Amino acid sequence: MVMTTVKLPEYGMFIDGEYTPAESGEMFEVINPANGQPCARVAKSDARDVDRAVRSARRAFESGEWSRAKPDERAKVLMRFADEIVAHAQEIAFLEILTSGATVRRVSNADLLLIVDLLQQTAKFAQEYEYAKTLPMRPFPQPSHNQVWREPVGVCAGITAWNYPLILAMWKLAPALAMGNSIVIKPASNTPLSTLKLAELAVKAGLPKGVFNVVTGPGSSVGEALVTHPEVDKIAFTGSTEVGKRIMQLAAQGVKRVTLELGGKSPAIVLPDADLDLAIPGILFGVFLHSGQVCECGTRVIVHEAIYEDVVQRLAETASRIRLGNPLDEKVGMGPIISETQLKTILGYIESGKQEGARLVCGGSRANVPGLEGGYFVEPTIFADVDNRMKIAQEEIFGPVLAVMKAKDVDEAIRLANDTVYGLAGGVWSRDLNQAYRVAREIRAGTIWVNDWHMFRSDAPFGGYKMSGFGREIGRYALDEYTQLKHVHASLVHEVENRHWYSIVLPDRA
Ligand code: NDP
Repeated sequence: MVMTTVKLPEYGMFIDGEYTPAESGEMFEVINPANGQPCARVAKSDARDVDRAVRSARRAFESGEWSRAKPDERAKVLMRFADEIVAHAQEIAFLEILTSGATVRRVSNADLLLIVDLLQQTAKFAQEYEYAKTLPMRPFPQPSHNQVWREPVGVCAGITAWNYPLILAMWKLAPALAMGNSIVIKPASNTPLSTLKLAELAVKAGLPKGVFNVVTGPGSSVGEALVTHPEVDKIAFTGSTEVGKRIMQLAAQGVKRVTLELGGKSPAIVLPDADLDLAIPGILFGVFLHSGQVCECGTRVIVHEAIYEDVVQRLAETASRIRLGNPLDEKVGMGPIISETQLKTILGYIESGKQEGARLVCGGSRANVPGLEGGYFVEPTIFADVDNRMKIAQEEIFGPVLAVMKAKDVDEAIRLANDTVYGLAGGVWSRDLNQAYRVAREIRAGTIWVNDWHMFRSDAPFGGYKMSGFGREIGRYALDEYTQLKHVHASLVHEVENRHWYSIVLPDRA
């Protein structure tokens, strides 16, 4: 192999409106998963940098410049922020693809549109939001004027995963900023670049310095320092259930608010009347988008026995035509896995599927992409005859591995669908909408797709049941997560002799 020494682009953290090196001066390398080579060096923060970022966020919050700005003013900045993203779309897309292995087809046709739409819609929701509500007059306990106010929480921390760096950051940023909070985001160490760019563009759009800071570095130190920092009021996390539990434990020490968007093992039920010309590509889109590295992927397909063999065969045939390769190539449908570690984990699960007796009908190996020999590619893999108790049916693989199982009727399909610790999403393929809605009601998950998958809207909430987490992101519902409720009571009883309740403590006043 020919070794070349190319000077890698270097990035600082983003604190108080500017890029800044780590106190320690240390940096870490970011790897391009398509070729396994370093593509950037980024400041490696430690607890001192986290403290700097959080204090900057707190100062910005206390100044009131953003936290007390009128909703219309905040909305204007969010709209300008959206414009800046559009103006820099190509650069942002490149950073996202380079570090996360997302395909250019996905980033340019979905991610960028989604984050811009979310910012614009959130700006609108923030203008319409009910920040203060007057309660009706009640005779009991005494006449008074009562209001319920919604106030920003304060300093929020966002910790995001590597699979959708831009979208996951925006799901936290948009509602946090719209409601007047400050936020410090710690992106995954594999994918910090696009989040840094967002912070730069937000300031360019007019967001006051310090309202949005980014710290970069290892979750185990930087992430924990952020979660436990006494000036952080709320934590919003997307990632593994294991780390989610750890964050909840740490947050408990400071009694901090937490929202968690964790793992999934989402079931797709295929009923005998399904339109298979739609369902087959739909199921494959549901599981193989971003090489299966999506928390709400439809990784378990439960097929009615009447159409089982037909579905298995058609899934395998169609999946084998998915084009793997350089994510920057517009013809490519599936890019690499994020890292060598994740690659090994996925291959381990494939091995376990074979060992436990599932029938491998497609893929099953690491793939070689000519010209990208160091890249982490895995073939789209499908196992049929999966038993729901198998590891590949119960554990989140986070790779391109589909488990297909058979059900004798819709009741058994629903039972299997719910036989999981997760509850992030689910779906059903059927021409009978009544039947589909029945399934939708019975699956215990936060999002259900009927005859489709991965469809997010800026006005619909997203979040999990069970061990997939709690709290909701996206849309109006997310705004509540970034506010505190305050009750303000103003008495209308002005004469002390009429305040008989004082006599509970002061009997001689009765
Ligand atoms: P993690 O849950 O480990 O990482 C997610 C984020 O949390 C990253 O920013 C990470 O930082 C940070 N982090 C890690 N440890 C801590 C900690 N102790 N305190 C605070 N923050 C922390 O996900 P992985 O990237 O390691 O992926 C592992 C598995 O998690 C995957 O195989 C998949 O099953 C699941 N996963 C689920 C996702 C989802 O969307 N639900 C997304 C990604 C993964 P750093 O990057 O520096 O480690």
